[in-house]
Amino acid sequence: MQLVFATNNLNKLKEVQALIPKHISLLSLKDINCLEDIPETQNTIEGNAIQKAEYIKSNYGYDCFADDTGLEINALNGAPGVYSARYAGPQKNSDDNMKKVLSELEKGSSREAQFKTVIALHIKGKVITFKGICKGEITQEKIGKKGFGYDPIFKPESYQKTFAQMDLELKNKIGHRGKAITQLVSYLSSLD
Ligand code: IMP
Repeated sequence: MQLVFATNNLNKLKEVQALIPKHISLLSLKDINCLEDIPETQNTIEGNAIQKAEYIKSNYGYDCFADDTGLEINALNGAPGVYSARYAGPQKNSDDNMKKVLSELEKGSSREAQFKTVIALHIKGKVITFKGICKGEITQEKIGKKGFGYDPIFKPESYQKTFAQMDLELKNKIGHRGKAITQLVSYLSSLD
């Protein structure tokens, strides 16, 4: 089975490749020569994931899946949420985004947060979604060098390390994307 993973993010590709069974051959956007930015103009995480999967199916004809992820912080009423990538501006810079989050969380306020990933799978003419949530808290400062995005300021529940201090294997096991991918893989296995 061939499936396109609609992402340009090499970190995500690496995370997902480690979880997908070998009999599924995963194609990247580069592999199908899709070099343009895929529109993400919906106002929900789920809407954006579906929009990206539908874009690839209708423009390139491949069965595919797309993910969209957001960091939801309780004390900020769920922000940055669907706007996580461009929270500090259109430059979509992770350091700027983290700086903004840390400056907005006043001392003493709740630091509870969660990552949410929605994967939209476009297969055999229909779209199915899978959701993965990882609860945790925002640290006082950036800690760790691994991972990407907001990983240095997110400490998952029951762990004393941020995602940026964890190996990929552990992040995948307990993380939002890993949880959504596990559901995707089990659905794909049920199709064979
Ligand atoms: P998107 O899903 O690529 O649109 O990601 C939205 C924003 O969340 C971007 O700023 C990403 O860097 C960030 N992000 C996505 N997944 C993760 C993750 O697993 N850890 C930390 N940040 C992430």
